[in-house]
Amino acid sequence: MSSIYEKYQLKQVINASGRMTALGVSTPRQDVVDAVNLGLNHYFEIKDLVDKTGDYLAGLLGVESAVVVSCASAGIAQSVAAVIVKDDADLLVNLHSAPLAVSHEIVLPKGHNVNFGAPVGTMVALGGGKVVEAGYANECSAEQLAAAITPRTAAVLYIKSHHCVQKSMLSVEQAAEVAHHHQLPLIVDAAAEEDLRVYYGQGADLVIYSGAKALEGPTSGLVIGKQQPVAWVKRQGNGIGRAMKIGKEGILGLTQAIESYLAREKESGKEMVEKMTPFIEALNSLPGIKARVVWDSAGRDIARTEIHFDEQAFGLATPAIIAALKNGDPAIYFRGYKANEGIIEVDVRSVTPEQLTIISSRIAELGKGRRS
Ligand SMILES: *Cc1c(COP(=O)(O)O)cnc(C)c1O
Repeated sequence: MSSIYEKYQLKQVINASGRMTALGVSTPRQDVVDAVNLGLNHYFEIKDLVDKTGDYLAGLLGVESAVVVSCASAGIAQSVAAVIVKDDADLLVNLHSAPLAVSHEIVLPKGHNVNFGAPVGTMVALGGGKVVEAGYANECSAEQLAAAITPRTAAVLYIKSHHCVQKSMLSVEQAAEVAHHHQLPLIVDAAAEEDLRVYYGQGADLVIYSGAKALEGPTSGLVIGKQQPVAWVKRQGNGIGRAMKIGKEGILGLTQAIESYLAREKESGKEMVEKMTPFIEALNSLPGIKARVVWDSAGRDIARTEIHFDEQAFGLATPAIIAALKNGDPAIYFRGYKANEGIIEVDVRSVTPEQLTIISSRIAELGKGRRS
C-alpha cells in the first residue's frame, strides 16, 4: 500500500474534511471491494445487470425504480436529459445539435444554484436544460417557485445540500406539490445526504445520490424514483449517458455498498462526540484555541469539532494554519468554510483516534513554533 505513495511520490492524507471529492471521498469496506473485484473478473449481460441490480435496489428501498450511474453529477445531467428527451428517438442522439423545440427549462430555487465542486448549472446544461432561477438568493417560497414555471418548463430541481442557502427555503414536499400541480416532475439532488427514502417519500419523481459519499461505495451514483422517469434515465445510456458510463464493477460495488449501508448501524452523532471529546480537551489546553462540538448545518446526524483561533494569542492567521497543516506530511485537511471568521471544522468520520492525536499535536507545534 505505502509503495503506491512512494512509487508516485504521493503524500499520505488525514481526511478531517468529510466526504471530499478532492481527497478521494471515502474508503469502501471489504464487502464492497470484493463486489468490485468480482465485477472486474466476470462478464455479464450488461442490460440485465443494470436492470436487475436496479430492481434489487428498488426493492430494498421500497421505491418504484432505481439505476446505478457513474456519479451524482452524471445523475443530474441524465435526469435532466431524461425529462426533456423522454421517448424521442431523434432527440436522444441529437440533444445538443440544435436549439430545442421541446420544453427544457429547469426551474431551481436561486439559493440552490450552487457550486458543489462544479456548478449545478453545468450539469443541467449537459443534460440539455436551461436553468431558470426562482425566488431570491436568500428566499424561495412555494409561490415564488410556481411563478417561475412556464410552458417551457421541463422539471423542477431541488438541491438538498449544506452548500445551499438553508433559511427561507421551501421544503421538498412543497416543491413536489408545486411541480405536480403543474404536471411536472420534481428532481431532487441529494448527493451527500444519508436518507435514501425520505425525499422519494416526500414526492420527488427522481432522487440522485453520490455513491462514494454517505454510502461509502466506489465512484458511482444512484438515481431512484418513479418507474417512467427512471426508464428515461436508463435510455440516456444510448445518448449523452454513454459519455458517463459506469462499469460493471461500479454497479456491483454500489449495489453491495447500499445493501450494507442499510443493514449496519451507522456511526451516530453521539458516537462522534465521544470520539472527539479527548481531542477537544487537548485543544482547549492550548493557548489561543477554543474547541467545541457543533452539529451539521444541513441537519444530518453529524457532529464536528469547531476550532476557533484567537489569532492574536495563537500567533498565526487561520488561513495560514490551514495551509501549514495541508502542506505538512501527512497532509491534514479540514473544513475551511469559515476560515474568514477564525474557525475551522474537523469532521471525524474518516479520522482514527490516533490521527486525532496527530492533528492536535501538529496544531500545538504550530502555536509553539511561532512563539519560540
Ligand atoms: C457531491 C455533490 C454532487 C456531485 O456528486 P458526484 O458523485 O461527485 O458527481 C452533486 N450535488 C451535490 C449537492 C453534492 O454535494
